[in-house]
Amino acid sequence: KPLVIGLTGGIGSGKTTVANGFAALGIELVDADQVARALVEPGSAALQQIVAHFGEELLQTDGQLDRAALRARVFSHPAEKDWLNQLLHPLIRTEMQRQLLAARSPYVLFVAPLLLENKLQDRIDRLLVVDIPQPLQLQRTLQRDGGSEQQIAAIMAAQISREQRLAAADDIIDNSAEPEQLSARIAQLHQKYLQLANQRAN
Ligand code: ATP
Repeated sequence: KPLVIGLTGGIGSGKTTVANGFAALGIELVDADQVARALVEPGSAALQQIVAHFGEELLQTDGQLDRAALRARVFSHPAEKDWLNQLLHPLIRTEMQRQLLAARSPYVLFVAPLLLENKLQDRIDRLLVVDIPQPLQLQRTLQRDGGSEQQIAAIMAAQISREQRLAAADDIIDNSAEPEQLSARIAQLHQKYLQLANQRAN
Protein backbone atom coordinates (compact mmCIF):
# COMPACT_ATOMS: atom_id res chain seq x y z
CA LYS A 1 0.00 0.00 0.00
CA PRO A 2 1.52 3.36 -0.97
CA LEU A 3 2.13 6.14 1.54
CA VAL A 4 -1.00 8.32 1.58
CA ILE A 5 -0.70 12.05 2.25
CA GLY A 6 -4.06 13.69 2.97
CA LEU A 7 -4.47 17.25 1.68
CA THR A 8 -7.14 19.47 3.15
CA GLY A 9 -7.91 23.13 3.82
CA GLY A 10 -10.85 25.50 3.94
CA ILE A 11 -12.76 26.81 0.94
CA GLY A 12 -10.52 28.83 -1.37
CA SER A 13 -7.36 28.08 0.64
CA GLY A 14 -5.51 26.72 -2.41
CA LYS A 15 -5.91 22.92 -2.28
CA THR A 16 -6.30 22.61 -6.04
CA THR A 17 -3.33 24.91 -6.65
CA VAL A 18 -1.16 22.89 -4.24
CA ALA A 19 -2.38 19.53 -5.59
CA ASN A 20 -1.45 20.61 -9.13
CA GLY A 21 2.05 21.41 -7.85
CA PHE A 22 2.51 17.85 -6.57
CA ALA A 23 0.97 16.41 -9.74
CA ALA A 24 3.57 18.35 -11.77
CA LEU A 25 6.23 16.41 -9.79
CA GLY A 26 4.68 13.13 -10.93
CA ILE A 27 2.59 12.41 -7.84
CA GLU A 28 -0.79 10.79 -8.39
CA LEU A 29 -3.87 12.46 -6.92
CA VAL A 30 -7.05 10.91 -5.60
CA ASP A 31 -9.73 13.58 -5.35
CA ALA A 32 -12.59 12.86 -2.95
CA ASP A 33 -14.97 15.30 -4.66
CA GLN A 34 -14.22 13.79 -8.04
CA VAL A 35 -14.87 10.29 -6.72
CA ALA A 36 -18.20 11.42 -5.27
CA ARG A 37 -19.23 13.06 -8.54
CA ALA A 38 -18.19 10.12 -10.72
CA LEU A 39 -20.33 7.74 -8.66
CA VAL A 40 -23.54 9.48 -9.70
CA GLU A 41 -22.77 9.86 -13.40
CA PRO A 42 -25.67 9.04 -15.74
CA GLY A 43 -26.00 5.26 -16.03
CA SER A 44 -24.59 4.57 -12.54
CA ALA A 45 -26.43 2.31 -10.11
CA ALA A 46 -26.26 5.04 -7.45
CA LEU A 47 -27.98 7.59 -9.68
CA GLN A 48 -30.71 5.06 -10.52
CA GLN A 49 -31.36 4.55 -6.82
CA ILE A 50 -31.43 8.28 -6.14
CA VAL A 51 -33.94 8.85 -8.93
CA ALA A 52 -36.07 5.91 -7.76
CA HIS A 53 -36.13 7.44 -4.28
CA PHE A 54 -36.50 11.17 -4.97
CA GLY A 55 -38.06 11.21 -8.44
CA GLU A 56 -37.13 12.23 -11.98
CA GLU A 57 -37.24 15.92 -11.06
CA LEU A 58 -33.74 15.45 -9.62
CA LEU A 59 -32.38 15.00 -13.15
CA GLN A 60 -31.32 17.84 -15.39
CA THR A 61 -32.43 17.74 -19.02
CA ASP A 62 -28.99 16.37 -19.96
CA GLY A 63 -29.51 13.40 -17.61
CA GLN A 64 -26.99 14.61 -15.02
CA LEU A 65 -27.91 14.74 -11.36
CA ASP A 66 -29.21 18.18 -10.38
CA ARG A 67 -27.07 18.68 -7.29
CA ALA A 68 -28.71 21.90 -6.22
CA ALA A 69 -32.15 20.20 -6.35
CA LEU A 70 -30.84 17.23 -4.35
CA ARG A 71 -29.28 19.54 -1.77
CA ALA A 72 -32.58 21.38 -1.46
CA ARG A 73 -34.46 18.09 -0.97
CA VAL A 74 -32.23 16.82 1.87
CA PHE A 75 -31.68 20.24 3.46
CA SER A 76 -33.49 20.22 6.82
CA HIS A 77 -34.74 16.65 6.18
CA PRO A 78 -32.38 14.56 8.32
CA ALA A 79 -34.03 11.24 7.41
CA GLU A 80 -33.61 11.90 3.69
CA LYS A 81 -30.06 13.06 4.26
CA ASP A 82 -29.32 9.85 6.20
CA TRP A 83 -30.79 7.76 3.41
CA LEU A 84 -28.57 9.49 0.87
CA ASN A 85 -25.44 9.23 3.03
CA GLN A 86 -26.06 5.54 3.68
CA LEU A 87 -26.24 4.97 -0.05
CA LEU A 88 -23.26 7.08 -1.08
CA HIS A 89 -20.74 6.96 1.76
CA PRO A 90 -19.84 3.25 1.52
CA LEU A 91 -19.58 3.54 -2.28
CA ILE A 92 -17.36 6.61 -2.00
CA ARG A 93 -15.11 4.99 0.61
CA THR A 94 -14.70 1.81 -1.43
CA GLU A 95 -13.85 3.70 -4.61
CA MET A 96 -11.43 6.04 -2.81
CA GLN A 97 -9.65 3.06 -1.29
CA ARG A 98 -9.48 1.33 -4.69
CA GLN A 99 -7.86 4.39 -6.28
CA LEU A 100 -5.43 4.89 -3.38
CA LEU A 101 -4.29 1.26 -3.62
CA ALA A 102 -3.93 1.50 -7.40
CA ALA A 103 -1.59 4.52 -7.22
CA ARG A 104 1.85 3.87 -8.70
CA SER A 105 3.76 7.00 -7.65
CA PRO A 106 6.12 6.77 -4.61
CA TYR A 107 3.35 8.30 -2.52
CA VAL A 108 -0.18 9.43 -3.32
CA LEU A 109 -1.96 12.68 -2.46
CA PHE A 110 -5.52 12.26 -1.23
CA VAL A 111 -7.26 15.61 -1.80
CA ALA A 112 -10.32 15.96 0.41
CA PRO A 113 -11.79 19.37 1.33
CA LEU A 114 -13.85 17.74 4.09
CA LEU A 115 -11.26 15.19 5.20
CA LEU A 116 -11.60 16.08 8.88
CA GLU A 117 -15.34 16.84 8.78
CA ASN A 118 -15.98 13.41 7.21
CA LYS A 119 -13.51 11.67 9.54
CA LEU A 120 -11.34 10.22 6.80
CA GLN A 121 -8.13 10.33 8.88
CA ASP A 122 -8.03 6.53 8.98
CA ARG A 123 -7.37 6.58 5.20
CA ILE A 124 -4.16 8.60 5.45
CA ASP A 125 -0.66 8.29 6.88
CA ARG A 126 -0.06 12.01 7.23
CA LEU A 127 -2.06 15.22 6.98
CA LEU A 128 -1.01 18.28 4.97
CA VAL A 129 -3.07 21.42 5.59
CA VAL A 130 -3.16 24.42 3.25
CA ASP A 131 -3.64 27.48 5.42
CA ILE A 132 -4.49 31.13 4.79
CA PRO A 133 -6.01 33.79 7.06
CA GLN A 134 -9.79 34.08 6.85
CA PRO A 135 -9.96 37.51 5.17
CA LEU A 136 -7.79 36.19 2.34
CA GLN A 137 -9.93 33.05 2.10
CA LEU A 138 -13.00 35.21 1.67
CA GLN A 139 -11.30 37.49 -0.85
CA ARG A 140 -9.93 34.69 -3.07
CA THR A 141 -13.16 32.69 -3.02
CA LEU A 142 -15.18 35.78 -3.93
CA GLN A 143 -12.77 36.55 -6.75
CA ARG A 144 -13.03 33.01 -8.09
CA ASP A 145 -16.73 32.21 -7.57
CA GLY A 146 -18.49 35.54 -7.23
CA GLY A 147 -21.52 35.36 -4.94
CA SER A 148 -21.95 37.27 -1.72
CA GLU A 149 -19.68 37.60 1.27
CA GLN A 150 -22.49 36.17 3.42
CA GLN A 151 -22.75 33.01 1.29
CA ILE A 152 -19.03 32.32 1.59
CA ALA A 153 -18.98 33.19 5.28
CA ALA A 154 -21.79 30.63 5.76
CA ILE A 155 -19.78 27.91 4.02
CA MET A 156 -16.73 28.80 6.12
CA ALA A 157 -18.83 28.63 9.29
CA ALA A 158 -20.09 25.13 8.35
CA GLN A 159 -16.50 23.86 7.93
CA ILE A 160 -14.20 22.87 10.77
CA SER A 161 -12.37 25.85 12.28
CA ARG A 162 -8.94 26.96 11.14
CA GLU A 163 -7.57 26.19 14.61
CA GLN A 164 -8.90 22.62 14.60
CA ARG A 165 -7.53 22.03 11.13
CA LEU A 166 -4.09 23.32 12.09
CA ALA A 167 -4.12 21.25 15.27
CA ALA A 168 -4.68 18.09 13.21
CA ALA A 169 -1.94 18.91 10.68
CA ASP A 170 1.38 17.07 10.40
CA ASP A 171 2.59 19.58 7.80
CA ILE A 172 1.30 23.04 6.93
CA ILE A 173 1.58 25.04 3.72
CA ASP A 174 1.15 28.75 4.27
CA ASN A 175 -0.46 29.93 1.01
CA SER A 176 -0.82 33.59 1.91
CA ALA A 177 2.06 34.68 -0.35
CA GLU A 178 2.32 34.64 -4.14
CA PRO A 179 1.70 31.30 -5.91
CA GLU A 180 5.31 31.37 -7.16
CA GLN A 181 6.51 30.95 -3.58
CA LEU A 182 4.47 27.79 -3.23
CA SER A 183 6.65 25.74 -5.52
CA ALA A 184 9.69 25.87 -3.23
CA ARG A 185 7.62 24.70 -0.27
CA ILE A 186 5.99 21.96 -2.35
CA ALA A 187 9.40 20.75 -3.56
CA GLN A 188 10.61 20.65 0.07
CA LEU A 189 7.62 18.61 1.23
CA HIS A 190 7.96 16.37 -1.82
CA GLN A 191 11.52 15.47 -0.74
CA LYS A 192 10.31 14.75 2.77
CA TYR A 193 7.49 12.51 1.54
CA LEU A 194 9.82 10.65 -0.84
CA GLN A 195 12.09 9.94 2.14
CA LEU A 196 9.18 8.71 4.25
CA ALA A 197 7.96 6.52 1.38
CA ASN A 198 11.46 5.09 1.06
CA GLN A 199 11.74 4.31 4.76
CA ARG A 200 8.46 2.47 4.56
CA ALA A 201 9.53 0.42 1.58
CA ASN A 202 12.76 -0.69 3.32
P1 ATP B 1 -12.16 25.05 -2.96
O1 ATP B 1 -12.12 24.26 -1.73
O2 ATP B 1 -13.13 26.16 -2.87
O3 ATP B 1 -12.33 24.22 -4.21
P2 ATP B 1 -9.27 25.31 -3.15
O4 ATP B 1 -8.80 25.14 -1.76
O5 ATP B 1 -9.07 24.20 -4.11
O6 ATP B 1 -10.75 25.84 -3.15
P3 ATP B 1 -7.96 26.96 -5.13
O7 ATP B 1 -9.05 26.83 -6.13
O8 ATP B 1 -6.67 26.27 -5.38
O9 ATP B 1 -8.51 26.62 -3.68
O10 ATP B 1 -7.62 28.51 -4.87
C1 ATP B 1 -8.69 29.45 -4.65
C2 ATP B 1 -8.49 30.66 -5.55
O11 ATP B 1 -7.34 31.40 -5.11
C3 ATP B 1 -8.22 30.29 -7.00
O12 ATP B 1 -8.82 31.24 -7.82
C4 ATP B 1 -6.69 30.35 -7.09
O13 ATP B 1 -6.27 30.64 -8.40
C5 ATP B 1 -6.35 31.46 -6.12
N1 ATP B 1 -5.05 31.26 -5.46
C6 ATP B 1 -4.54 30.13 -4.96
N2 ATP B 1 -3.33 30.33 -4.40
C7 ATP B 1 -3.09 31.64 -4.52
C8 ATP B 1 -2.01 32.49 -4.13
N3 ATP B 1 -0.94 32.02 -3.47
N4 ATP B 1 -2.09 33.81 -4.43
C9 ATP B 1 -3.17 34.30 -5.07
N5 ATP B 1 -4.22 33.56 -5.47
C10 ATP B 1 -4.18 32.25 -5.21
